[in-house]
Amino acid sequence: MKLSYKPILLELRHPFRLATGSRTHTNVMLTEIHLKGLVGYGEAAMPPYYGENHDTAAAFLQRAALVLQQLPDPEKEDKLSGRSIQRIMVEVDAIAPGNYASKASIDLALHDLWGKTEGQPLWQLLDVEQKSMPPTSFTLGIDAPEVLHQKMLEVDDFQIIKIKLGSEDDRGIIRTIREISDKPIYADANQGWKNREAALDLVQWLASQNVRLIEQPFPKDDLDSAAWLSARSSLPIIADESFQRLTDLDRVADCFHGVNIKLMKCAGIGEGFRIARAARAKGLQLMVGCMTETSCGISAAALLAPFCDHADIDGCWLIRNNPFEMPVLENGKIRLNDDAGLGLRVHV
Ligand code: MG
Repeated sequence: MKLSYKPILLELRHPFRLATGSRTHTNVMLTEIHLKGLVGYGEAAMPPYYGENHDTAAAFLQRAALVLQQLPDPEKEDKLSGRSIQRIMVEVDAIAPGNYASKASIDLALHDLWGKTEGQPLWQLLDVEQKSMPPTSFTLGIDAPEVLHQKMLEVDDFQIIKIKLGSEDDRGIIRTIREISDKPIYADANQGWKNREAALDLVQWLASQNVRLIEQPFPKDDLDSAAWLSARSSLPIIADESFQRLTDLDRVADCFHGVNIKLMKCAGIGEGFRIARAARAKGLQLMVGCMTETSCGISAAALLAPFCDHADIDGCWLIRNNPFEMPVLENGKIRLNDDAGLGLRVHV
């Protein structure tokens, strides 16, 4: 198997405003794995806060290319399958710690290639059912009501709004949204809340505003505060920054009502499915999320969505220069298509 990779900058449709400034691009590494005339597509989406970038990804993927090159030919000795991909990913994982998005880019490309060698869409190979697909939320950056209104019109298909909280005036933000829409809201505090009692007050008020869940209320290592709030909140409290990989599950299971699985945090589709099974066995709610990503990462995340209670996989609607065709959205739900593998079509 031959691995190749290409760095690109995804241009955000609207800059992300953060306390530290605003971000207009996301670093992405597009990967391809070639085998017998077929090509599998993968992607590493690397927002700055997880520590990966084009240089770290290139260094990692260079080493991974050698590992893949030395592997037995799956056509002859070890046909590509969910199981053989898991074995390959154990070797990829052992190359170096961290580098989860880079690892995910290999896992995605291997899965896409598996589907293509079988001539089947991945959703079929993984027993994914369209009828269980939840609607995905759409992230709305905060702006003046008239600008928000315009943004909402652009994405009218989406049935759920996601809002970033953790500001000085979270109630004001929600009131602004409520001036233009009564759609349900997913609220993400992004570790921004500091005080337990104030957070509980706010959560109860948010529940009255048709907010449906809260992501990551407190700093990621403050699990005591998360557990305190989860014990009292009428809304589900979901771990995002506190939770990355399967090995984190035991640590957070008693502190949150659910976990947000992102393929770029957990090194890909294979582990994403294992997390989903393990988290369900613990009675946790499941959310599937994303970074700003191309259709590649989003189509992969959409495979996991039907096993989840909540989906926030709008990444490719947030960018201008998606190298692949957009997924089809129906009533706010991503439609799994019948093309082999991840079903991606490259723009020509
Ligand atoms: Mg989040």
